[in-house]
Amino acid sequence: MIIGKSKKELEKMRLSGQLVGQVLRELKRMVVPGVMTLELDMAAERMIRDGGGAPTFKGYNGFPFSICASVNEEVVHGFPSARKLKDGDIISIDCGVTLDGFVGDTAKTIPVGRVRPEWLRLIEVTEECLARAIEQCRIGNHVGDIGWAVQQHAERHGYGVVRDYVGHGVGRKMHEDPQIPNYGKPGTKEKIKAGYVFAVEPMINLGTQETKVLADGWTVVTLDGQPSAHVEHTVAVAEEGPELLTLIAEEAEATTKQAELATSL
Ligand code: MG
Ligand code: MG
Repeated sequence: MIIGKSKKELEKMRLSGQLVGQVLRELKRMVVPGVMTLELDMAAERMIRDGGGAPTFKGYNGFPFSICASVNEEVVHGFPSARKLKDGDIISIDCGVTLDGFVGDTAKTIPVGRVRPEWLRLIEVTEECLARAIEQCRIGNHVGDIGWAVQQHAERHGYGVVRDYVGHGVGRKMHEDPQIPNYGKPGTKEKIKAGYVFAVEPMINLGTQETKVLADGWTVVTLDGQPSAHVEHTVAVAEEGPELLTLIAEEAEATTKQAELATSL
């Protein structure tokens, strides 16, 4: 069942969205060659708690950290660690905040130092996929329109669209109905109504769409070892159109098998 949000609930979701958006912006600034991904995690938790929130991921199904830090061929759910980021890496940081009972969920793929052009292009196209997906989050559209928008754009560039993990509704819980795949057909699946809030999150691979999970039980990697990008915003469906709850204003200026699918943080 999809839970529509009232105006009052949306006000709260704006606050959790802005807090997690600010945390991700600060983490982006910290991403330089030599930084340990665990440092990013510790900074994230401190900023979340300073902002009056709780890290949604920590303890979620046993996940031990406040962020997912997925480097290069890691798709999602990477563990922060003593690993130091190197010049030429890319890192996808995913973060969730619970504030006053509501969750904000956002992710970004960030280049570390000088990154090869093909990898930068992957990030750029993944961001374009997200923008196109968000455009579909309108009253009267269908959830299948969102996935179609992502899939069309990514496959036009020859990229693999991850099938094994999907976006999701978000509210009091991080994972609510509906699931939002990054592939699909226009006019299919649930009809979109005012007050719905979605975590829209394309996961796009340079090579094959196929993934596997490492022995830690969490870290998802591409089967062919090629890099992957992941970007996410929490989006409210308003009368006037999509509202990006996790977008920070200054950043905006600068820039059927469904039930079986695992849901991405
Ligand atoms: Mg997320
Ligand atoms: Mg998510």
